Amino acid sequence: MFNNVFKIVYFVLFMLAFVVRKVFTASNRKREFIVEKKSPWDVLLLTFDGIGMLIPLVYVFGSGLDFADYPMPQWVGWAGVVLFMDAILLLYLSHAHLGKNWSPVLGIQKDHTLVTSGIYAYIRHPMYAAHLLWAIAQMLMLHNWIAGFSFIAVMIPHYLIRVGKEEQMMIDRFGEEYRAYMKTTGRVVPKFK
Ligand code: SAH
Repeated sequence: MFNNVFKIVYFVLFMLAFVVRKVFTASNRKREFIVEKKSPWDVLLLTFDGIGMLIPLVYVFGSGLDFADYPMPQWVGWAGVVLFMDAILLLYLSHAHLGKNWSPVLGIQKDHTLVTSGIYAYIRHPMYAAHLLWAIAQMLMLHNWIAGFSFIAVMIPHYLIRVGKEEQMMIDRFGEEYRAYMKTTGRVVPKFK
């Protein structure tokens, strides 16, 4: 347990990310969907995402996964720390600006509004970008074939399956307004006008 510095730093940042998410989602549990795109695949992949995020804790608090460690220079781990902090900031901004429109599964809620301001003025999927940065940071900080790669291995396929469906759902709901919004923003890489 905690036998290398990145295990400790990872745990602290993980808890920070967890708190950010909880602060925004704890008071926003009741959702009334008018459109719900809840597929068994999406739910399964969401579960796998969760497992991929939690495996590092098994690594941090135990030594059972240490057999899969590989050597890596320290600076790579510190680059991961910087990336994880950026991911947390992005997670915070996306939750703050998306507000009650957020939901873990894809859907349009009763009072859904299209958000095109704040961080969403530059990037359509800042929350997925935050998760991607998180997954890369995990890989850079935890030099272990299992704990380092457990999130990115699920997160990328899930993102690829989900993002097109989500944008189609937004087009179906908001039509030209969303199409115009797509032209001025980047998908996961911000577009600055
Ligand atoms: N893909 C976004 C949001 C993730 S939460 C991101 O990465 O930041 C998923 C829900 O957000 C979807 O069900 C969709 O209804 C909603 N959503 C996505 N983009 C939105 C936007 N620009 N305005 C309002 N709701 C949005």
